[in-house]
Amino acid sequence: MEIVFATNNHNKLEEVQEMLPASIKLLSLNDIGCNDDIEETETTLEGNAKLKANYITTKFGYNCFADDTGLEVESLDGNPGVYSARYAGEPSNSEKNMQKLLLALNNKTNRKAQFRTAICLNIDKKQYIFEGICKGEILNEKRGEKGFGYDPIFSPENHQISFAEMDSESKNNISHRGIAIKKLVAFLQKVTHQ
Ligand code: IMP
Repeated sequence: MEIVFATNNHNKLEEVQEMLPASIKLLSLNDIGCNDDIEETETTLEGNAKLKANYITTKFGYNCFADDTGLEVESLDGNPGVYSARYAGEPSNSEKNMQKLLLALNNKTNRKAQFRTAICLNIDKKQYIFEGICKGEILNEKRGEKGFGYDPIFSPENHQISFAEMDSESKNNISHRGIAIKKLVAFLQKVTHQ
């Protein structure tokens, strides 16, 4: 079967395709000829994931899933959350986002945070939501060169290093997105009897 992952991010597409049986073929937005900029206008991660999946299913008729991720910081009432990509304004800039977050936490002792991913799957006229959470804390300064986004300032629970100091396989094993994707893949395997 074919299913659309509403993204053109090749890293994400590869990561998910590798976890799926060969009988489930992932299509990107490019693959289905969708060049539309689907604006993430909702105020929750689930809302944005639904909005993107519904856009594709409605306009193109495909079974589809979409994801949205945010970094939720406890002492900032869950911010930047759904606004993580554009925390320091647009266009998105990871360096500025991290500096803004470090400044906001300057005098805070509680540095607990979690990455949370919501995936919305539209399949055979039904809708399902999958969630993945990775708990940890915001470091006092950047550490490591790998990864992207807030990786250099996020250290996952029970690890002494930042996400940016981990190789991608170790990160995918414990990450919010990895956990949500594993749930999605297990579900797809069940419903497609693979
Ligand atoms: P997206 O929904 O995957 O595009 O993620 C939204 C924003 O959250 C990104 O622009 C990053 O700033 C941040 N983010 C998402 N996943 C990660 C991650 O695994 N590490 C660091 N930052 C992330």
